[in-house]
Amino acid sequence: MKQDLISDVVVKRDLTSDVATKRKLIFEKSKDGHHGYSLPQLDVPERAIGELLPKNILRDIDPQLPQVDELTVVRHYTRLSQMNHSVDTGFYPLGSCTMKYNPKVNEKVARLEGFVHLHPYQPEEEVQGALEVIYTLERLLAEITGMYRGTLQPAAGAHGELTGMLIIKAHQMKKGEKRTKVLVPDSAHGTNLATAKMCGYSVVELKSNPKGQVDLKLLEEALDKDVAVFMLTNPNTLGLFEENVIRISEMVHRVGGLLYLDGANMNAIMGYARPRDMGFDVVHLNLHKTFSTPHGGGGPGAGPILVTEELEPYLPVPVAERRGGHYTLDYDRPLSIGRVKAFYGNFNVFVKALAYILAMGAEGLKQASFDAVLNANYLKEKLKKSYYLPYDFPCMHEFVLSGEWQAKKGVKTLDIAKRLMDFGFHPPTVYFPLIVKEALMIEPTETESKDTLDAFAEAMIKIAQEADLTPEVVQSAPTTTPIGRPDEVRAARNPVLRWKPEER
Ligand SMILES: *Cc1c(COP(=O)(O)O)cnc(C)c1O
Repeated sequence: MKQDLISDVVVKRDLTSDVATKRKLIFEKSKDGHHGYSLPQLDVPERAIGELLPKNILRDIDPQLPQVDELTVVRHYTRLSQMNHSVDTGFYPLGSCTMKYNPKVNEKVARLEGFVHLHPYQPEEEVQGALEVIYTLERLLAEITGMYRGTLQPAAGAHGELTGMLIIKAHQMKKGEKRTKVLVPDSAHGTNLATAKMCGYSVVELKSNPKGQVDLKLLEEALDKDVAVFMLTNPNTLGLFEENVIRISEMVHRVGGLLYLDGANMNAIMGYARPRDMGFDVVHLNLHKTFSTPHGGGGPGAGPILVTEELEPYLPVPVAERRGGHYTLDYDRPLSIGRVKAFYGNFNVFVKALAYILAMGAEGLKQASFDAVLNANYLKEKLKKSYYLPYDFPCMHEFVLSGEWQAKKGVKTLDIAKRLMDFGFHPPTVYFPLIVKEALMIEPTETESKDTLDAFAEAMIKIAQEADLTPEVVQSAPTTTPIGRPDEVRAARNPVLRWKPEER
């Protein structure tokens, strides 16, 4: 291997002398002469091949492939797959990301033949079932959010933000308004600021008040006729419900601005509160957070948006419609912002989300939110004696601790996160939201049992004790994982994703 994977991502202190051996053990499986196939004897004279085949397609040198037998290949990949932490192998309390359990029945439904063999260019009459999935899911999400219509096209939350903001922009331009500013609280997810910038707005950041909420006085000062949108997250990224959301909505609308909901935290309020009733004009949902579909490597995401009646004409084309018992795709929408995704979005994700919503039912979704909030508050109360809790209020589905007490002893939040891995837990989100120093953002989700929450709390409390008594143990963690402290920038910028032959 030219660039060795391990030394490429691991910080020096972890490995020093041992890299080469470690790398050899884990990745260098090739041995000259080993192979996992048996081909019949060549029955063409070798000389003839050179004459029969055009010269330009003949190789000069043999392909540089690893030489391995079948079992070695199977074991190699199986072992690599087991090096990853996942929702299916352990507790994954990654705040803001909502690593919910992915029900296996969803996968089964999404793999039904009728779904997997669809082609996007099939005529409408042949794909009535698929259109029904799209239409029904959109209607259910509209029901859950209290909104009028929506689109499932965006591939992620951030993409939903962009779509929603382009819709608002199109609407305001149609009215002849030239609004230039977008307001964002200082607790917001980075994608909100990026979205506003991408849409050509200048961003005004609002400092949160000591309760972690929107400061109404600062909001009042920031509001004027240039404000296009206030992008708000509710529950916000501190896991707190914005108590004044109705007031906020009135204030923003009074100056002619619109209110955008970053609905990434909808899993805390399903069935209890509806974005439309809170005064929002647009909301995005993350099906891979709230509606149990897998994240990232587990499959693509989806970030549907839902809008009010006023904004409906601007939705991307096509919009699925039901006319006289027949499903159809409507492209005839003159005010539409156009397409935001090839074809109709990540269709198989819709199937999984729909399967989840139908399996849960209205009461089940409500129960999921209730349990998510209960689990978070339970853990928060268990941990707040050992870790500083800067916003000590009843939380929603997640809460944010600070590692400040431990930092005074030289143990950073990153060290705490690394040490948790030795106990078999995925660390919480760290250093976000930015307004909490040494932040540890914990989201247990609704499906975890009391036993798991207790075991996690026990590990966290033990780490707090270690930070007091034996800080070096925490500082040198993890010791049980194949890779310890990756240089995250190098790992992200120069990932080594495939085996390369050793240079001879
Ligand atoms: C996850 C998240 C986003 C972005 O969603 P993606 O699906 O990752 O693009 C935006 N805002 C908040 C609050 C989030 O938690």
